[in-house]
Amino acid sequence: MGDLLIQNARLIDGVSDEPRDGMNILVRDGKFETISSEPIDVSEGTDRLDLAGKTLIPGLFDSHAHLAWDALQDIQLQSQNDSTALAAMKCTLNMRRYLETGVTTIRDLGVHWLGVESRNAAVAGTVPGPRILASGPPITTTGGHCWWCGVEADGPDGVRQMVRDLAKGGVDLIKVIATQASLGSFLFPGSASTPNPSFTDAELKALVDESHNLGRKVTAHATTPEGARQVVEAGIDSIEHGTDFTDETIELMLEKGTFVIPTFSASWMQAHHGHEIGIPPAEIERRKKMIADPDRARGVARAAAAGVNMAVGTDQGSPCTPPAALINEMALHMEYGVVDDPMQVIKNATASAAKLCGIDSFVGSVQPGLVADFVVVAKDPLEDLRNLYAPAMVYKEGQMVARDGALLPENPLFFA
Ligand SMILES: [Zn+2]
Repeated sequence: MGDLLIQNARLIDGVSDEPRDGMNILVRDGKFETISSEPIDVSEGTDRLDLAGKTLIPGLFDSHAHLAWDALQDIQLQSQNDSTALAAMKCTLNMRRYLETGVTTIRDLGVHWLGVESRNAAVAGTVPGPRILASGPPITTTGGHCWWCGVEADGPDGVRQMVRDLAKGGVDLIKVIATQASLGSFLFPGSASTPNPSFTDAELKALVDESHNLGRKVTAHATTPEGARQVVEAGIDSIEHGTDFTDETIELMLEKGTFVIPTFSASWMQAHHGHEIGIPPAEIERRKKMIADPDRARGVARAAAAGVNMAVGTDQGSPCTPPAALINEMALHMEYGVVDDPMQVIKNATASAAKLCGIDSFVGSVQPGLVADFVVVAKDPLEDLRNLYAPAMVYKEGQMVARDGALLPENPLFFA
């Protein structure tokens, strides 16, 4: 792979508070080599990319994805009825759409083992896709939320055994379902909804202990204040969805460096588009009320204001929530008052998310020595985060993978 000299870019690097204009960046061997406001000397034949008038940001992260769901059908029915072949096709399409959205890394939080297989297929070059950190099937209590796409385990010994089984199967992290669904299934309103934690304290402590022993981070689906308190006390690394955190829980999250990944997209998208996929009108009304509630994100906003680490996740695959919902999710972080600065949202969807994954020294920001995942946009994302839709160019590991919101044709390896 030859060098690439990027010139005249407006640079948002994922860690600085301000953009920098007129920046030159040398990409070598798939990494950012030099970043300078001064001209960079390169040899005659070096590829050049003039980005005058355009903005370069790090490749985006969707920190909460389910590649095997299609955003159209009920997630429980898909999980139970899809053959592995059909589920794999859905993964392949979603992986492509992530790249087209400018998302170069995702955390797949499980539909059976499909995320792990997708990761392996992307790494092997079988299909194009983002970098995937996969939890494999989420761990839930017997009959607990998501039992139909996860694995059931009970008792401290049972969950410890399950963590070992998942690690043996090659998962990158552990996902635990610590509370029930907040809405239940839209086909079965009122299903599986209770504010109580699902696991005992002893079970969760064993789960976290074993995961960390095996070098895996743990993320918890926790949607109630009591559930959040329990998982933070047990030492989990991040909370999915979020809730109305108590002051004590926020204090503890700050102390332990816990991340929160709010997911506003699914209910927002369903309220706006649910009629297009046949969600019953009463369910759409329920979501409309939910997204109009000014206090909807109160707990998450209080946590963010206190300095709790945030990342951005869509719950992709849920009805009406395709990969491109990430851009809307970023805008919703502003609209719900989680942050008041678009630059902070970009940081939370890049460098902060990389830290959540434990890979920030390798990828997630535009700094010398880091992997050259980046996105070029024609309009200023700081003016409107929705300017990130259909990016002009997407690069993964220094190679262009998408242009004008469409995947590039791949090189025919054996007939060039
Ligand atoms: Zn989810």
